Amino acid sequence: MSLFDAFQPIAAIATTPQATQLLYPLCQSLGATLYIPETLPLIDTTTCHYQGSLKAHLATIWRNNRAFVFCLATGAVTRLIAPLLNDKSSDPAIIVIDPTGQYVISLCSGHQGGADRLTQLIAHHLNATSIITGASHHLHLPAIDLLGLAFGWRKGPGDWTGVSHAIASQKMVQVIQEAGSRLWQENLPQNHHFYFGYPEIEENVTPEGRIWISATKRRFAEGSTFPKVQWYPRVLWVGLGCIRGTSQRFIASAIKEVCQKYHLAEDAIAGIATIDIKADEVGIIKYCQEKEYPLLTYSADILNSINVPNPSVVVKEEVGTSSVAEAAAIYGANYWFSSQGNREQGTGNREHIQVKQSLLVTKQIIKSENEAVTIAIAQSELEYTGRQGKIYLVGTGPGILEQITPAAKTGINQADAIIGYSLYLDLIKPLQRSGQIIESLPITKEKERAQKAIELAQWGLSVAVISSGDCGIYGMAGLVLEELKNNNWDGKNPSIEVFPGITALQAVAARVGTPLMHDFCAISLSDLLTPWEVITKRLTAASMGDFVTALYNPRSQTRQSQIVEAQTIFLDYRNPNTPVALVRCAYRQDESIILTNLKEMLNHNIDMLTTVLIGNSSTFLHENWMVTPRGYNRVEEQK
Ligand code: SAH
Repeated sequence: MSLFDAFQPIAAIATTPQATQLLYPLCQSLGATLYIPETLPLIDTTTCHYQGSLKAHLATIWRNNRAFVFCLATGAVTRLIAPLLNDKSSDPAIIVIDPTGQYVISLCSGHQGGADRLTQLIAHHLNATSIITGASHHLHLPAIDLLGLAFGWRKGPGDWTGVSHAIASQKMVQVIQEAGSRLWQENLPQNHHFYFGYPEIEENVTPEGRIWISATKRRFAEGSTFPKVQWYPRVLWVGLGCIRGTSQRFIASAIKEVCQKYHLAEDAIAGIATIDIKADEVGIIKYCQEKEYPLLTYSADILNSINVPNPSVVVKEEVGTSSVAEAAAIYGANYWFSSQGNREQGTGNREHIQVKQSLLVTKQIIKSENEAVTIAIAQSELEYTGRQGKIYLVGTGPGILEQITPAAKTGINQADAIIGYSLYLDLIKPLQRSGQIIESLPITKEKERAQKAIELAQWGLSVAVISSGDCGIYGMAGLVLEELKNNNWDGKNPSIEVFPGITALQAVAARVGTPLMHDFCAISLSDLLTPWEVITKRLTAASMGDFVTALYNPRSQTRQSQIVEAQTIFLDYRNPNTPVALVRCAYRQDESIILTNLKEMLNHNIDMLTTVLIGNSSTFLHENWMVTPRGYNRVEEQK
């Protein structure tokens, strides 16, 4: 799995040895093909020669790639791509990197082509500056033409350029949201100019753009003065019954007809629900395949267990439930709530489902001479995203951006949602992308954070869970995996990627020298989750074993005695003069470093922001540097 999967296939173009050197390693990470002129030597099979002019070569590979990364002057790139550009909804992303790799420029197809996002990802990867000139990016507003993609919404008709322009010009844009997630609204910058409601009525002002988010198809009034667009969240579940052998075409046209009659957008359809004996109905299967709709099937017993507006005695006698279309539509619309934690496509059968009535369209019968369908439509509260969720478990290092790995930065930037403790979220603010969902939870709510991440990922979002240091060292990563296991996770969906970070013991060691050059261990003195007897056993073993020891969580307001006891244990086995480093807030603004020894360590301030590093029997201090010998000199002396 690569963070760049969403942009494949990617082509990169270099025309000089310097550009090749810059792009080659990047292409390895991107999974891109690197094209170079015949005059330059090939590096391996991921590089290709292009023959003849670059212009002609580009024309041949233009349609086969979703993104192009050039290391070439922007002027040259502009001239090369000009004849090939067609439409912003279909053109590939065009990105230019300067020959020194300091700047990454989103040149073309910034929004829909994904160039802005890919530019940011590449810039994080190269530790370069991204150059994005789109207005919404700088206003920290979500790009309106990308707004619903994370939630699987479909784009409807409208003047997208007009509404984008109104937003970029900070004009009042009205939002009427009747369906779908409102999470995007909770993460807007304070100075946005969206108006949620009816400004004409409420404030007697006319908006200058409008965004409809609804399952209903709006017909925009002709001659209306301002631009409008429509997004369709996929909230409609079509309950379907049919006589054997009804064709795909008949089903498709019947659904279209019903949608039209009730002004519902076909693009807002989430999926199809029916009775289990129709699971092999060829027309239904083919229709779902073509439209990429999930097909949910329910047993007659389940379907019969809810009240519907139009039950039928005849149907009951035939298949054992008095409703197929209406009951299935209602179950379909409740699917995402009822199946949390045990979700497989195509098996809707569940007992004890709490079902909410949500029919928009009651049973409609459409028939011809030998084909017939019944259709009912229900609306779900939560939209179907049609996406497979991902969880990125990300370690953000000790406290400054430079100490986060480029891969972790890329993961953070790529995610649809970021979940973490507010202090760490503040740290990574510069890495956030406008439009991202940010869930900040208090430090004590780790379990809630893990569950929230899982819930969003099961729904289809990519979620970055942030921990300071390394996320798998006294961090959130383990808890997320534990909770997934409790949810009978299949190991694949949501997918997981762990991004390591620099843990406190490494950060602290780096600030004082090289104290970890020999065997070492980490022990947390927090007995909130671990019994104190276990901790003292490990402290004893570590000091007996002469390990350099990093003590995490050494002292809090309520836990004062643990560090005292730890010192006593170490003094039993180690010289009182053993060097000890107390590093508080390593790499943060209020960093403090104290070099002391085992006997005197408690005379200094130690708190929850401190890591205590106790040296081994050969650790020494020299000119304010703490060193644990690896043993080279000892070996040399023996020679
Ligand atoms: N996942 C984190 C550890 C979380 S436990 C990591 O890998 O670093 C919290 C403890 O980590 C704190 O009590 C402190 O002992 C240590 N710690 C975290 N950041 C630190 C920093 N910048 N400087 C010193 N100690 C730090």
